[in-house]
Amino acid sequence: MTTKKNDPQNWRPATQLVRGGTERSRFDETSEALFMTSGYVYASPEEAEQAFKGEKERFVYSRYANPTVAMLEKRLALLEGATYCNATASGMSAVFAALACQLNSGDRVVASRALFGSCHYIITELLPSFGIEGVLVDGTDLDQWDEALSKPTNAVFLETPSNPTLEIIDIKAVAERAHKAGACVVIDNVFATPVLQKPLQLGADVVVYSSTKHIDGQGRSMGGAILSNDQEFAEEKLKPFLRNTGPSASPFNAWLQLKGLETLDLRVGKMTANALEVARFLETQEGIHKVFYPGLESHPQFALAKTQMDSGSTIVAFEVPGGRDGAFKMLNGVDIIDISNNLGDSKSLITHPATTTHQRLSVEERALMGIDDGLIRLSVGLEDVEDLKEDLERALKGMH
Ligand SMILES: *Cc1c(COP(=O)(O)O)cnc(C)c1O
Repeated sequence: MTTKKNDPQNWRPATQLVRGGTERSRFDETSEALFMTSGYVYASPEEAEQAFKGEKERFVYSRYANPTVAMLEKRLALLEGATYCNATASGMSAVFAALACQLNSGDRVVASRALFGSCHYIITELLPSFGIEGVLVDGTDLDQWDEALSKPTNAVFLETPSNPTLEIIDIKAVAERAHKAGACVVIDNVFATPVLQKPLQLGADVVVYSSTKHIDGQGRSMGGAILSNDQEFAEEKLKPFLRNTGPSASPFNAWLQLKGLETLDLRVGKMTANALEVARFLETQEGIHKVFYPGLESHPQFALAKTQMDSGSTIVAFEVPGGRDGAFKMLNGVDIIDISNNLGDSKSLITHPATTTHQRLSVEERALMGIDDGLIRLSVGLEDVEDLKEDLERALKGMH
């Protein structure tokens, strides 16, 4: 193990992403080592006893902790400016654990309505089945937050920018209101990535990621993470929940994601620049009803996005005429861009939310979330942006 003279917390993000959390083994390898092991051995029964009593800090079982996973957790924590980080098996296990570890029957959660499909299921169906009230509000309307948070509340959950309509929610304003109501604020920061937005600095208590998305970024592995600076939450609620229910990150996936983090800054920067250019291009195309992108002046929360995000994110949404048929024509017309419900990949991916990610919702619920049948979500990748624009232009022309 090498000790650095300089505190990694003082490094700039690009340096933290390449070097943060690295612990070399006795073989002095350059690249992070992959520890594919479920268990660990003890020199003596005395040592095992000490480890289980918590008198000796060491690895005991990979459901609790693993050296490769620990490197990922340290690197993510540095980048986020968080004291605690737990990597998980998927983004959804991170969302569920962050909420379930702290909620009891009779409790109340308030969430923004524009949510990823599975997050919506957790708030509106799963938690209520355990006697936890789930209330949805229009996340962009502070009056609705005021009303919902006028009663004591245990947790607030929101996504900003939201999936798939790229709504921006005022994290600072909602956190202030939530704290007055006694709630722990949990933010799903997947669309912004840790490069573009730092919710803990804006008043959030807990941040969750799907590392399946930009953190892996090359479509290879599932994973998630939960970060916070709250010792009581991390040590007394989350840790026992994770240890005993076991949504642990695989060391192999953690290793892929560690290597993914090395280029996160570069990839997100380039993908965001491409996304802005694609969004501007789509705005000029005849027949496109609306373009949703927080980096466009036409976005309803453009000013707010500028205050809490470094730029507009890697995802663009837009509405084509002709509802479902129009959208399907458009998706059938693209050649380079792949049809996929994944996002944050180096390959550009296009999806029709109304029939895939948000298909389970009722027509009314989709309407409330602004998901028209003609809405298309595009996760912009690392290809040459000219090829992407040409691909989209060809597909749009083919619709007529
Ligand atoms: C993908 C996604 C999740 C779930 O992550 P998985 O890794 O697929 O479990 C949660 N929230 C948002 C915003 C996502 O895009």
